[in-house]
Amino acid sequence: MALALPATLSPSKVVSFRDCALSFRFSVIDRLPEPPSAAACKGTLVHKALEHLYARPAEDRTVDAALADLDRARVEVMQSGEYADLCLEDEAAFHASAETLVRRYFQLEDPRTIRPIGLELLLSTPLDEQGKVALRGIIDRLELDEAGDLVVTDYKTGKVPSERHEHGRLTGVHFYSYLCEKLFGRRPARIQLLYLSEPMAIIATPSEQSTRGLERKVGAIWSAIERACERDDFRPKPGVLCSWCAYKDYCPAFGGDPARAMELVTAS
Ligand code: SF4
Repeated sequence: MALALPATLSPSKVVSFRDCALSFRFSVIDRLPEPPSAAACKGTLVHKALEHLYARPAEDRTVDAALADLDRARVEVMQSGEYADLCLEDEAAFHASAETLVRRYFQLEDPRTIRPIGLELLLSTPLDEQGKVALRGIIDRLELDEAGDLVVTDYKTGKVPSERHEHGRLTGVHFYSYLCEKLFGRRPARIQLLYLSEPMAIIATPSEQSTRGLERKVGAIWSAIERACERDDFRPKPGVLCSWCAYKDYCPAFGGDPARAMELVTAS
């Protein structure tokens, strides 16, 4: 039986399907809950702190203000339902590490010089004229540079990718650039990933070629998702990501039974 298609396609869904179709199915089609992870929680905390920092007047965006914003984010995030079941092995080390990421952010740029025009900005546009699916993305920060051009910034709290994987990691910001171009009629002059752990910035300039490439890539992924839903055919693709996969117990590549996951969906 054909499965219902997802209504939206985001950068994370594109990457999820590309990396492993079965994991995509569990997460996006079946909506199996994923247990909260410390890494995701830390990322949420740091993003929230930087969002609060940029809500302040430019001259107030100091390290001390950012640390106060991290404290505020801790209250908001740690008490939210999403992370209520999170068990931290070493709570002090977890919070110290989040603070280190916020401090390192200041080694990458001076937030007093940034002119944000959107924070956690939700953008959405149809993939094509038929409007079968909406492309949707939330941009961490959209700003204007000195020349008045758009700049898309995405904060990253994980490890810096190897040179070999650098291009692939830019898919998300190219996707955001595409959304900006569609909705505002202007291609951003710069897209950047700010890796706070090193810290390191990976910067690219969107071009006609990269924009068309992104469009083709997303179109091809969507066609593959349509085919997979039509045939109910989502195959596992074992790889390095399996170590972190929340659905490993149900994965046939590891002796699991996907039907058990479906029982969970039916029961919930
Ligand atoms: S364990 Fe690996 S192959 Fe199996 S669903 Fe997860 S990512 Fe895919």
